[in-house]
Amino acid sequence: MEDKNFDLLNLYKLQLSDSKIAFLEREIDKLKANEELKTREEELNETLENYNKLLSSYNELEKERKKLDDDLAMKNEKIKKNEQKLSSGTITSAKEIVSLQEEIVSVRKANEDTENRMLEIMIKIDDINESIKSEKEKKEKISSYVDKLKDEINGGIKVIEDKLNKYRGKRSEILKQIPDDMIVKYREVKEKRGGIAVGILKERMCLACNMEMSTGEALHMNNLNEVYKCPTCKRIIIKYRGEIDLINEEFRE
Ligand SMILES: [Zn+2]
Repeated sequence: MEDKNFDLLNLYKLQLSDSKIAFLEREIDKLKANEELKTREEELNETLENYNKLLSSYNELEKERKKLDDDLAMKNEKIKKNEQKLSSGTITSAKEIVSLQEEIVSVRKANEDTENRMLEIMIKIDDINESIKSEKEKKEKISSYVDKLKDEINGGIKVIEDKLNKYRGKRSEILKQIPDDMIVKYREVKEKRGGIAVGILKERMCLACNMEMSTGEALHMNNLNEVYKCPTCKRIIIKYRGEIDLINEEFRE
């Protein structure tokens, strides 16, 4: 490759920025795909469903109880009227008296059945109220856990996003320092080589693929201001120098 009249270290910095940005983006995706949150949200939906079902059962039972209660009131009124008629002394027909008395007995009998049915319903209502209470507690507990988890995740994402913005800013500054044709080349290699376009040649070792080249090959790659091509991984390589360690340190955080 031909000589470049720009600081080759910027190429390496571009690589580190891109790797860092890709890493941080993956970290955000991982946080967003939180399994625990998914499981808990499903659990919350189930609880909500149960809770609503219980509420509608409660409403049904309460409606029935109300109906029976009205029925009971109506029939008690009927008994009261019959009793009033009987005690008023206005009825003289024995047949009518017997008929009224029989009606009272029969209505009382029906009322007993209604009262028993009401009692059953009220026991069910009590049970359902218990279930509603415990399902509500469960719902609130899971809901507050889900909120807490979401806050934690969003907090984590925020921290990473701040870092990402820092590195994106850094990257655009670095890009300005690199000639366009070099950027085109960099992108081509990066695309083909799994996201890594630039490696460091340290002694005879390419640090991108960790392969050693022959002494003969390394001998030709001795100019600090030139880019070379790794004979093994075909990546762009630049010769190691002390600043590389500082740059690595700079991108470690
Ligand atoms: Zn290599």
